[in-house]
Amino acid sequence: MFNLDELIRPNIRSLVPYSSARDEFKGEARIFLDANENSLGSPLPKWYNRYPDPLQLAVKEKLSSVKGIPAQQIFLGNGSDECIDILIRAFCEPALDNIVIVPPTYGMYEVSAGINNVKVKKVPLTPAFQLDLPALEEAIDEHTKMIFLCSPNNPTGNSLVREDIEILLNNYFGIVVVDEAYINFSRQRSLTSELPEYPNLVILQTLSKAWGLAALRIGMAFASEAIVQVMNRIKPPYNINQASQELALKALEEVGQVNDMIRVIVRERERLETALAALPVVKHVFESDANFLLVRVDDAKGIYRSLLDKGIVVRDRSNVVLCDDCLRITVGTEKENDELLNALK
Ligand SMILES: *Cc1c(COP(=O)(O)O)cnc(C)c1O
Repeated sequence: MFNLDELIRPNIRSLVPYSSARDEFKGEARIFLDANENSLGSPLPKWYNRYPDPLQLAVKEKLSSVKGIPAQQIFLGNGSDECIDILIRAFCEPALDNIVIVPPTYGMYEVSAGINNVKVKKVPLTPAFQLDLPALEEAIDEHTKMIFLCSPNNPTGNSLVREDIEILLNNYFGIVVVDEAYINFSRQRSLTSELPEYPNLVILQTLSKAWGLAALRIGMAFASEAIVQVMNRIKPPYNINQASQELALKALEEVGQVNDMIRVIVRERERLETALAALPVVKHVFESDANFLLVRVDDAKGIYRSLLDKGIVVRDRSNVVLCDDCLRITVGTEKENDELLNALK
């Protein structure tokens, strides 16, 4: 059965977390002389001389109402990449434990594990880019603490079959991380509604894609309150800076504007999919639930270079397993997409 205490690294279980001035005093006061800040102010007009809220409660309250998830079940990271790193450090003992990834998939899971000296077991997706459940069962051992899934998947663009993910959640009692960076572009529903069912489920989302805020570096992890508490214990105390917190709060008021952009991007994705498929150089356009298309072409490296000559940069994924001769193309504006199509013609 799932036992969170047994999964956490012993040193993390017994860790005394850093206690900041902001943690130790949370009341109202007239004069703050507790954090060695510059009491005179700063060159900027705002309160940037003060340390930000370590737990980002205002942002989480707002996110809670946008996502329908209790604030205590939300963790914020300096990008999803920080969430990934913190999860690995919380659960995986270096040189002992391992994680399972399902290539072709997002590169940071393996890099983050590598930085932490955590072994990576690779169970490739099927040729249809779906989970290979028997191979996963074979690969998981007693030191497998975590499985990283990505749905919609980067770089393939498709969603994983929901039932397959639920079979894993029901039969594997380590942590199942489902990276939903592209969920807003998907025809599939988010797994967030399943959070109450699965104590081993961690869902990652980000403000970097649909919300258009890659520069702010705000990633989200949704999980049980107990897992969020573990993550809070090991995060850098002030991991989301004040400017990002303020701007995120402001942006989260604009759900309507973001939904309008998502509609335009999905419409453009569908137009591009059809137009690309009709081009002689294109062999196959994979169905996408994301804001990019994986496209198999005649000669990926040649086409990559000739697009670059015209000032258009796409991502060459031809060296990635199951992605021979594939380019990953982000959906741009209508005009950018027209230019891409003309260049490929
Ligand atoms: C882009 C992307 C992210 C986003 O990472 P941030 O650090 O939040 O910008 C996460 N996961 C996947 C699969 C991505 O493609």
